[in-house]
Amino acid sequence: RASDLPGNAIAVFDEEMNQRIKSKQEMEVALRRALDSDEFSVHYQPQVALDSGEVIGVEALIRWSHPEMGNIPPGQFIPTAEETGLIIELGRWVLRRACMEVGGWPKPVQLSVNVSPLQFEHGDIVADVREALEESGLPAERLVVEITESLLITETSQFTAKLEELRACGIGVALDDFGTGYSSLSYLGRLPIDKIKIDQSFVSGLPDNAASTAIIRAVLMLADSLDKSVIAEGIETVDQAWLLRLLGCRIGQGYYFGRPCPAVDLVAKLNEDEADKMPMEAMG
Ligand code: C2E
Ligand code: MG
Ligand code: MG
Ligand code: MG
Repeated sequence: RASDLPGNAIAVFDEEMNQRIKSKQEMEVALRRALDSDEFSVHYQPQVALDSGEVIGVEALIRWSHPEMGNIPPGQFIPTAEETGLIIELGRWVLRRACMEVGGWPKPVQLSVNVSPLQFEHGDIVADVREALEESGLPAERLVVEITESLLITETSQFTAKLEELRACGIGVALDDFGTGYSSLSYLGRLPIDKIKIDQSFVSGLPDNAASTAIIRAVLMLADSLDKSVIAEGIETVDQAWLLRLLGCRIGQGYYFGRPCPAVDLVAKLNEDEADKMPMEAMG
């Protein structure tokens, strides 16, 4: 009861509430301005074939460089962007920018883009994707949208229909952070999904944690029976990469293979890979 609280607890609580609301409003204003003044950029993290080490895809990750506060991580502004609806415009911007950049690269790697459920619910995701593809010339088969299950609480038949529509265009659908939501398994059965991304919280337990290993083994078996491909996220060590490969996982992503970086650096990495391969091919 309030009367049990120390004298100024309520005042302190009000103060904190105030602070939070104020900073949310400030965040909204700052996000708006950031969109208009080009403070966002897209970084790319490699997705690698675990048997050959070849980069076969990239995940686009938004970055915000604030003029005074410096780099603000997505975890700190995506929630506000979602609460205020700005995510629809921001998400559209990421899609266009990423398709444009990756569409111009020398190697035809896959591009995965994180998409908020709000872009399905309140935006026209299908039109946005079509436009981004048309404008960039990126073939639909090279684009994958990543949806996060924890945010799929709003799942509706309309949501599923839009996913089907994207798939009909040739676009892939990946279920991000698999295993961390409340109903991963039931989503897997109901939603039209091509790819599962095993969350980094399971990968971080490798190689020593027996439970993590067992869960990953089970997810790989399940994915295989459902004919879905798997990416392991958050690979930080060579041991983790080796064990995942041994367990039959084909694709990996994580700091071990490369941190998210600007487009120019990723292109340089792709070119290096090509150069590395040449002498071996020349030797026959
Ligand atoms: P996510 O889609 O699961 O992306 C993976 C996150 O894990 C990224 O964090 C990445 O930098 C980080 N990561 C990659 N490898 C490792 C590793 O080996 N170890 C560790 N500890 N972390 C690793 P980031 O860039 O901070 O993004 C966080 C989340 O913000 C993303 O999680 C995604 O849910 C969201 N996000 C990022 N960009 C966008 C976007 O353009 N649109 C939307 N709607 N959400 C985005
Ligand atoms: Mg993702
Ligand atoms: Mg993830
Ligand atoms: Mg996530």
